Amino acid sequence: MRFLIGCVIMMGVICTGKSFAMHRASSVEKPLVVILMGPPAAGKGTQATALTDYLGLPHISTGDLFRENIRNQTPVGKTAKAYIDQGKLVPDQVTIDMLFARISHPDCQHGYILDGFPRTVEQARTFHQRLEAQAAKVECVVLNLNADDAELVERITGRMICKGCSKPYHKHYSPPQQEGVCDACGGDLYQRDDDTAAVFTKRLEVYRVQTAPLISYYQSKGLLKQIPSKNSSDQVFQEVIHALPHTPALAEK
Ligand code: AMP
Repeated sequence: MRFLIGCVIMMGVICTGKSFAMHRASSVEKPLVVILMGPPAAGKGTQATALTDYLGLPHISTGDLFRENIRNQTPVGKTAKAYIDQGKLVPDQVTIDMLFARISHPDCQHGYILDGFPRTVEQARTFHQRLEAQAAKVECVVLNLNADDAELVERITGRMICKGCSKPYHKHYSPPQQEGVCDACGGDLYQRDDDTAAVFTKRLEVYRVQTAPLISYYQSKGLLKQIPSKNSSDQVFQEVIHALPHTPALAEK
């Protein structure tokens, strides 16, 4: 009998120890939020796609979410289209509500990769405040991809995107194996309406005025890492990986 009671006590100690260790591990490994910033055509989509494969975290592009809403003719899509066609930013509140609806999905519980959000200091403030209000503790890293203007125009005019999975291609630098067809999912490739030189000039101006101030905002918070993006996408990806915070999950990669 004494032996039996001893065993029960031992099991209790082991179990308590184990659950403590598990609790500790889960509290140490906070969800990872990677924010990819940079001017239009800096390569955010390409790096986000590669990071999704590498980290197993979903790629959340507010531009893609808007385009999906436009295709489905939702109220958000109708509001967004007028702004997107002119190269302007969609109002902050519409953007933030759409983003929070997406990151509340279960696939985001271990983190996510943000591509094209935030794009204003107000969006950034509201994003972090709302996460805090939800007591959502996340590990956040902001990667700023930079390239010069001439290179951006060259990239944008040759860019093609997959209708199915949004994978980006370039006519000269990263063409698909079969013209007009996505290597990854077999979807049709298309050129975005706002990837014309005229709309692009407007998008670049909007970037400089409304989005670039985020660089000093995140610098002052000690979260920003600069990534030069003039090299090949593979070289840029190596830099991106080096800039990620060291977490036990990443150490296994
Ligand atoms: P992108 O695919 O990231 O280049 O976004 C395409 C367009 O969607 C932008 O030019 C904006 O009009 C709109 N958009 C995307 N993300 C945001 C955002 N965070 N805030 C406001 N507008 C956005």
